[in-house]
Amino acid sequence: MIPAPVVALLYLVASVLFIVGLRRLGSPATARRGNAISGVGMLIAVVVTLFDRAIVSYGTIAAGLLVGSALGIWMARAVKMTAMPQMVALLNGFGGGASLLVSGAEFLRAELVGDQVPVDTGITIQLGILIGAVTLTGSVVAYTKLQELLSGRPLVFAGQKAVNALLFVAIVALSVYQLATPDPLLWPFYAVCALSLLLGVLLVLPIGGADMPVVISLLNSYSGIAAAMTGFVIGNSVLIIAGALVGSSGIILSQIMCRAMNRSLANVLFGAFGAQGAAGSTRSAAGLTVRSVTAEDAALRLAYAQRVIIVPGYGMAVAQSQHAVRELAEQIEKRGGEVKYAIHPVAGRMPGHMNVLLAEANVPYDRLYDMEEINGEFAGADVALVIGANDVVNPAARTDPASPIYGMPILNVDQAQSVIVLKRGMSPGFAGIENDLFYHEKTSMLFGDAKASLTKLVAEVKGV
Ligand code: NAP
Repeated sequence: MIPAPVVALLYLVASVLFIVGLRRLGSPATARRGNAISGVGMLIAVVVTLFDRAIVSYGTIAAGLLVGSALGIWMARAVKMTAMPQMVALLNGFGGGASLLVSGAEFLRAELVGDQVPVDTGITIQLGILIGAVTLTGSVVAYTKLQELLSGRPLVFAGQKAVNALLFVAIVALSVYQLATPDPLLWPFYAVCALSLLLGVLLVLPIGGADMPVVISLLNSYSGIAAAMTGFVIGNSVLIIAGALVGSSGIILSQIMCRAMNRSLANVLFGAFGAQGAAGSTRSAAGLTVRSVTAEDAALRLAYAQRVIIVPGYGMAVAQSQHAVRELAEQIEKRGGEVKYAIHPVAGRMPGHMNVLLAEANVPYDRLYDMEEINGEFAGADVALVIGANDVVNPAARTDPASPIYGMPILNVDQAQSVIVLKRGMSPGFAGIENDLFYHEKTSMLFGDAKASLTKLVAEVKGV
């Protein structure tokens, strides 16, 4: 056992390292160092906890570490960059599941030895169970939607919100009954667990399409809050602090995402958002003309353009074409053109997806512009080059009230002098809806895998 003041001091050091690390994650220049600093903090917290606590034998801990690390390494190596959001969703779920198990185990332990649990600990146990269970099943549903095992569309039924509200009231009533009964029975405990697990499923089922990023960051926040509750249950200060940091940063990210999607956080918190207008989203493009272009013609236009704005999207990630994008930009710049990158906050499949890919390809960070910064510049651009983006450039968000993405701010690509779109065919994006931009008279479609098309464009621009 380590003396209590030493444990408290080391936990304080770990917490300070978390906060400094998090602060440094705010800028690409300091993010790697920030990640390492937080990692050291976590190492200190884990080592101190292992040496301080004698809850289970070291043999059991070693076995858990071995199995967990092997699975973690396998998952991290096997996951494709494009499947990262599913992985993040699943990991949030594991966090919630762990909080559920610890809170539940603490309740059962007290029952077994006949401990009288103080009311404040009882409340945090119930909250740990509720939030942990909702995070676990909600994240599993989010995973199945992103993995396309379930339809990505909002799944709604009549009276869904009322059912959710009833479930919530039942959980609160059972928890209060549990806390108020001097000799608590076990059935309310199991009922709270089961109903909370069900609530997690029902809260995420009606969310779909372009609204998924918000739900993922919200579940991330829930997993932090559940961990903080667990910290109160077992009296572990570093867990409370780390959980609170994840919970609050997750809420801030959710708010940023909400702003990007033009939704209110209340919409998200009360569920069933993103479902409106889903039925009206099946507009057909029959009868409209698509203008396709050859790589030679597209390259000519790019080579003589003065101002080019590149709009990356999920297709760039699928094709892993970020290096080819940088090469093309360099060729255009060599010829005197100016190239900027327009980054939509929900482009790709996870927050910062495009920034990470472009940074990996050594695109200078000052060429990347947020939506609000760049939207005014499209009208002055000779060419907007759309690379595997779809929903984030869909004008239906502005013009079609029946569209599920109506109201979402988009990149004003349609205001550029001309638009070149690189994609493989006419498939819709994540929201599953048609995009009029592809039929616009100033739009030229260069069909094919983005990496192959970009490689051809680089060679052609070089030869002009
Ligand atoms: P998108 O709307 O999903 O469209 C991607 C497009 O890329 C598709 O239309 C596809 O068309 C094309 N594509 C796929 N593979 C390609 C390849 N190898 N080469 C060229 N093109 C390829 O993408 P987005 O505009 O980036 O929008 C992101 C969407 O995902 C939004 O609806 C957003 O809400 C949602 N989402 C975002 C996050 C986040 O945190 N960023 C998380 C979850 C969901 P073809 O098949 O015809 O090529």
